[in-house]
Amino acid sequence: MSWEFMTDPEFQKEIDWIDEFVREEVEPLEYVLGSPVDLKQPHFDELVRPLQAQVKARGLWACHLGPELGGKGYGQVKLALMNEQFGRTRFGPLVFGAQAPDTGNSEILAHYGTPEQKERYLQPLLDNRIVSCFSMTEPQGGADPTQFRTTAVADGDEWVINGEKWFSSNAKFASFFITMAVTDKEAPPHRRMSMFIVPAETAGIEIVHNLGFHGESDPSHAYMRYNDVRVPRQNMLGEQGQAFVVAQTRLGGGRMHHAMRTVAQAQKCFDLMCERALSRTTKGSGLADKQLVQQMISDTWIQLRQFRLLVLETAWLIDHHNDYLKVRKNISAVKATMPKVLHDVASAALQVHGALGISTDMPFTDLIINSYHVGLADGPTEVHKITVARQVLREYRGGDEIFPSGYRPHLREKALARYGFLHEG
Ligand SMILES: Cc1cc2nc3c(=O)[nH]c(=O)nc-3n(C[C@H](O)[C@H](O)[C@H](O)COP(=O)(O)OP(=O)(O)OC[C@H]3O[C@@H](n4cnc5c(N)ncnc54)[C@H](O)[C@@H]3O)c2cc1C
Repeated sequence: MSWEFMTDPEFQKEIDWIDEFVREEVEPLEYVLGSPVDLKQPHFDELVRPLQAQVKARGLWACHLGPELGGKGYGQVKLALMNEQFGRTRFGPLVFGAQAPDTGNSEILAHYGTPEQKERYLQPLLDNRIVSCFSMTEPQGGADPTQFRTTAVADGDEWVINGEKWFSSNAKFASFFITMAVTDKEAPPHRRMSMFIVPAETAGIEIVHNLGFHGESDPSHAYMRYNDVRVPRQNMLGEQGQAFVVAQTRLGGGRMHHAMRTVAQAQKCFDLMCERALSRTTKGSGLADKQLVQQMISDTWIQLRQFRLLVLETAWLIDHHNDYLKVRKNISAVKATMPKVLHDVASAALQVHGALGISTDMPFTDLIINSYHVGLADGPTEVHKITVARQVLREYRGGDEIFPSGYRPHLREKALARYGFLHEG
């Protein structure tokens, strides 16, 4: 396998354009607008739409999609390089048509939607005329989906959905939900559930409470109830019992895009830390001259470079295999590494900024909280570490003997049997 560290010079021009455009035009939006997915907020059309139009005109809109859906089909490596730029700011993904969970939901609809569903939900989603919600986690069990209890029961031409969902992000802004529900309690655990499109206007959808976390101005992670929610039969996505397969369509890409944006956020913290270290003086010398500060800089620089390489290698492998499942181990490794990298770089940057660093006048506390967000959403770190270990162990087999294959006395014996003549005479 070859490996190429150079960005194609033509594409580098696009990256340079994104870099400047994001810093100059997109980043300021986060100080004057609310949630990026609140499409109806005052001044949204006036401030965001012209920027989206520039991205479209440049041919950089919704690049996660293949050409058949109006995207460029760039692949994950180029996406990673783009996300590294626009992921530094809250409005970046939205301005580039790459906002989660809409990206993943559009992948599901593209794969499993009927032509009518694509017209009604996919096209407006791709145009960012609407936003969507992925409604899977339940209050009694997130990391273990086999504990989900929400049911969908067939009744004539309809499915009737009942149950509770938890942390359904963006539910209050969404025009439709992609909802996971048990359709056959007796089936094996991974064949019990199916996936549905649920239009937001359907009777019986109740938002019990919107949870928020520190730093979020507008709580939008819904605790939801589905009370006899009726959807047409054809709103099932994929086959009955295929919810896990359908969910995988979105999760691989979703986890990678989070990681790419995490590189951007960690890099932003790192840049601010270096600037501060070079600007501040204490006890007769600059912070940058103190060895313990230098250690924070070198440790986090190394950590961030290692993570970025892991992300890029995994992106390259996805492009190479064109199949998320074949690269499952690597995607889980990225997912499990991401929270610690963001946490450590943001914490070091906070520390070097002193009291200012912990204040809300700087972004570090938000990004430390975000490190926990990326460590939970799309599955907790521990579960991904288990996946990595299981997948790695499949590449090995245990020995049949009492002593391991690296046992030196046996290796020496074997070597002597082969080369013992060297010592003769
Ligand atoms: C900001 C945010 C947005 C989210 N958005 C969505 C969304 O839009 N849609 C959606 O469906 N869900 C969403 N989620 C939910 C997310 O997918 C779940 O939080 C996640 O799957 C973990 O489930 P849980 O919170 O119930 O934790 P639990 O399952 O209760 O696990 C708690 C902790 O136990 C440990 N743990 C769990 N399993 C294991 C194991 N097998 N081995 C060892 N340790 C383990 C981990 O430390 C874990 O954090 C979101 C979460 C957050 C934080």
